[in-house]
Amino acid sequence: MPALELRGVHARYAEREVLTGIDLAVEEGEVVALLGPSGSGKTTLLRIVAGLEQPSAGSVLLDGREVAGVPVHERGVGLMFQDYALFPHRDVAGNVGFGLRMAGRPAGEIRERVAEVLALVGLPGFEGRSVARLSGGEQQRVALARALAPRPRILMLDEPMGSLDRALRERLPDELAAIFRRLGLTVLYVTHDQDEALRVADRIVLLAGGRIEADGSPEALWSAPPTVFAAAFLGFRTIAHGELGDGAIRGPWGPIPLPAAAAPAASSGPVPFLLRPDAVRLDAAGPIAGTVSARRFRGDHVLLVVAVAGAPDLEVELRGGPLPAPGDPVRLAIDPAGVVLLRD
Ligand code: ADP
Ligand code: MG
Repeated sequence: MPALELRGVHARYAEREVLTGIDLAVEEGEVVALLGPSGSGKTTLLRIVAGLEQPSAGSVLLDGREVAGVPVHERGVGLMFQDYALFPHRDVAGNVGFGLRMAGRPAGEIRERVAEVLALVGLPGFEGRSVARLSGGEQQRVALARALAPRPRILMLDEPMGSLDRALRERLPDELAAIFRRLGLTVLYVTHDQDEALRVADRIVLLAGGRIEADGSPEALWSAPPTVFAAAFLGFRTIAHGELGDGAIRGPWGPIPLPAAAAPAASSGPVPFLLRPDAVRLDAAGPIAGTVSARRFRGDHVLLVVAVAGAPDLEVELRGGPLPAPGDPVRLAIDPAGVVLLRD
């Protein structure tokens, strides 16, 4: 039985539908990133699961039990918001122990549990500190400890990196992922940042305009995004249209032969497709002629941008080997394994 299930969930504000039929099951111990642009309905979905908002249609089940009418504090969900919503006048222990106090747990048990979750998030001994004097990263950990203290069945985080500086946003997703795995938590992690989603989650659910656009493991979505929107949102830039036929796709860069498995027998009209960055390589005997227009250093590789007459630019990832300079003529070949056919 899934830990969380949404069946045909719709939501509307006034006249406008912001969720249009969400079906989603999250298994126990799964870390699911709910990824999508601003306004796609992510927060609304979390609020509906938490019981802070009612769906206009459809149902929410926690551990197989329909929860319409079950109040927020009885749903067993832990929530962490972007702004943390910490109580500024309470110390760290007062914040972290809040849910347990509300649940009427005895003082000794609260003290023990607060110490335990603070150690877990890397803030042992912080009980007496004032939250107003903590750094952004420490406040985020306190908010996480507060959400974890009552041992929620599901932890839900809404853009938890939103107000942190770049250095922390680099490091914390991996630390959070480690905590989720260590505790075997069931997590719904909302973010608009594809890198964060890829790093934190076992599974990514991409939301667009109030519906699920794609759903799969980070590896699966990254190697074969299903739609134009999904590919663009994941950061792929070389997306074009081509005609399928005779075992090839004919796009702006000329025909690219496709393996039989990748080429559907029947299709009509232009088909959108993606060239993954690893699909394009320098090849003195390659069929495509172009001119290097830019070189971008990316740490572990160099991204070469190549202008091709009458077609969009191509990008080549170079890891070692000769490095052509802007203005140099080059020839390119496309590896059919890096071509992904998309849906509109
Ligand atoms: P996300 O978290 O993905 O940015 P939201 O769930 O916050 O998206 O919002 C989805 C849509 O619903 C947006 O267009 C937003 O403006 C609208 N919306 C959110 N909350 C309210 C509200 N309380 N009243 C009216 N419209 C809202
Ligand atoms: Mg939001």
